[in-house]
Amino acid sequence: MTVQHTPPTALRVLQDEPIVPKKPPADPATLAYKELLSGEWWKKIPAYKEVSEEQFLDHNWQAKNSITKIEKLLSTVKDLVPSDFIKDTELGIKKSPMSVRVSPYLCSLIDWENPYTDPLRIQFFPLASRLLADHPKLNLDSLHEQEDAPVPGLTHRYPDKALFLPLDTCPVYCRFCTRSYAIGLDTEEVEKVNLRPNDDRWKRAFQYIASRPELADIVISGGDAYQLRAAHLTEIGEALLAMPNVRRMRFASKGPAVMPQKLLTDGPWVDALTAIVEKGRKLHKEVVLHTHFNHPSEITSHTERAMDKLMERGITVRNQSVLQRGVNDTPEVMTLLVKRLGHVNVHPYYVYVHDLVKGVEDLRTSVDTAIYLEKHVRGSTAGFNTPTFVVDAPGGGGKRDAHSYEYYNRETGISVYTAPSVKPGEFFLYFDPLHQLSTAIQRRWEDAAEQQLMVDEALAMAKKHAR
Ligand SMILES: *Cc1c(COP(=O)(O)O)cnc(C)c1O
Ligand code: SF4
Repeated sequence: MTVQHTPPTALRVLQDEPIVPKKPPADPATLAYKELLSGEWWKKIPAYKEVSEEQFLDHNWQAKNSITKIEKLLSTVKDLVPSDFIKDTELGIKKSPMSVRVSPYLCSLIDWENPYTDPLRIQFFPLASRLLADHPKLNLDSLHEQEDAPVPGLTHRYPDKALFLPLDTCPVYCRFCTRSYAIGLDTEEVEKVNLRPNDDRWKRAFQYIASRPELADIVISGGDAYQLRAAHLTEIGEALLAMPNVRRMRFASKGPAVMPQKLLTDGPWVDALTAIVEKGRKLHKEVVLHTHFNHPSEITSHTERAMDKLMERGITVRNQSVLQRGVNDTPEVMTLLVKRLGHVNVHPYYVYVHDLVKGVEDLRTSVDTAIYLEKHVRGSTAGFNTPTFVVDAPGGGGKRDAHSYEYYNRETGISVYTAPSVKPGEFFLYFDPLHQLSTAIQRRWEDAAEQQLMVDEALAMAKKHAR
């Protein structure tokens, strides 16, 4: 017997009744997130003029042709940029705490006609003329990852999760890297802590993880999981999946953002990742990939193909961005990034307020900027595709929602956070970059006694409100 279902009057429509839109047509600009760069765009770079699509898609070719030296940059983009720019970069690299490594893919996405303002250039090639003095409160390893490490390269800060750094190299080197204490080759400025792939260190890290029943969630970062050989992925994945306490794992890689080609042409690596994800699924454990896109132009048709492949294999991908001045610090760019990520099935997870890292003061923005951007992004797309804007509290407090400060003085640029579930009773200070503060306040920051007064004021206020 069928039951005739009659919709309520308000939902009944007549076939030929016209639909009256209640919203104006979408502004085509708001659909720009669907337009992904395609074709053979890299051929406009003189050095890649003869590079076929097949070659450009080959991850080995990408790795082999990455730019690590100023001479290589020069030979790649000569005739495209003024010679002042090359000199400026050369000096910038000398003064920088990070090594330089840029994939041809990334290099091909930079607008070399406007290298000074290009958001990708800004992230990877330092310019001496743009560097600013560090904030007086800044130090290397601002997150104190080494302090919370029971085994070198394993940080156990939060109650139920740990961060494992199996190695110290990446497919590219980002200027803003928080781990500039360990990542990349030694530069003239910094002597690095050594984290080479090393069976003994790995074994000790696994031993520690297995010995802590509260550890349920392991982040495998780096360096970068892209640099692990397929066999290494399998070894780490299987060791962790075998531990009853481990319920969730994330492999973290910048790779999809800077060399999506690997996901298309490195079969063994993608197969190894897939096998771990599938093995995890059978054990009812979640294994996902975390990546790191910062600007919408980093997402091209190659990215889409790579993400499609992971989607087909049932691999969840989440994204963590770093908020940077001149890169993604406007509502337009951040919204475009968030929507484009969603479009290629990458979940925007976090946007980090830039850590207090040495030598990149020009890249930092304020907590206020993060709060302003969040307000504009929220509502533009699905809530589950809306990132949380976080401050990774200097001094080891861990990630805090940018809005959750106990006190924030926008004049002095000091914000104070607490982390009751991580380090109860402690207060953590974050400092906005000086270049966005008034000249009067900038002057106060030059004086040690004044610094102390400003910090004391912020702490006193925070202590009054914290609960
Ligand atoms: C970021 C981080 C994690 C993971 O934190 P989530 O908020 O779960 O993404 C774990 N350990 C350390 C030390 C971290 O910095
Ligand atoms: S890929 Fe990640 S770990 Fe490597 S240099 Fe960039 S930010 Fe640092």
